[in-house]
Amino acid sequence: MSAQPSVLVVEDEASQREVLVYNLEAEGYVVQQATSGDVALDLAREDGPDLILLDWMLPEVSGIEVCRRLKAAAETRGIPVIMISARAEEVDRVRGLETGADDYVVKPYSVVELMARIRTQLRRVRPASVGERLEFDDVAVDTAEHRVFRDGQELHLGPTEFRLLTTFMERPGRVWSRDQLLDRVWGRDIYVDSRTVDVHVGRLRKALRSATGKDDPIRTVRGAGYALG
Ligand code: CA
Repeated sequence: MSAQPSVLVVEDEASQREVLVYNLEAEGYVVQQATSGDVALDLAREDGPDLILLDWMLPEVSGIEVCRRLKAAAETRGIPVIMISARAEEVDRVRGLETGADDYVVKPYSVVELMARIRTQLRRVRPASVGERLEFDDVAVDTAEHRVFRDGQELHLGPTEFRLLTTFMERPGRVWSRDQLLDRVWGRDIYVDSRTVDVHVGRLRKALRSATGKDDPIRTVRGAGYALG
């Protein structure tokens, strides 16, 4: 997890992989790579990417089998998978096999179209990252314009508090540990003390209260972290 949406590219052919990585990085995504199904499954479990681009033809474990295992495991089931295959007939077969893939692309694919399909999938799992408007109760976030409102009144948040709020609002009810918030909001390569999370959550909560005088919708989950609602 990271502040930018992360994409795991699973493709054994170096040239194909490089094209994908190049284009994804150009779009601002954090990209991870795997050249085999086993490595892909490990990375998906450990790092929880926001989306997986999965080639059908892989050595040993096929893309279809990888997809099936991803969709069978509770911890990876929710990650959107876009399958890439060499021929249109294969797409029909993938569909027929009910692997659970969320979308399919045939080689040679249009990069523009692939990027659009990626955004469509991310709109579901990372709505703030594609400029969607988020609403929860009386709080609204215009992620395209970076504006936050409570009860119609605009709040002025610092950049860290803004990212914290969009993270919470993308997944209402989800309990976030301090480490998960550090990865998502600050990025995993930056060293920040976990108490820093408490400081910024405190500021966010205060800003949410100050707008209306009402209680804020974020709650502390003892021993676990924080959640919205
Ligand atoms: Ca391949």
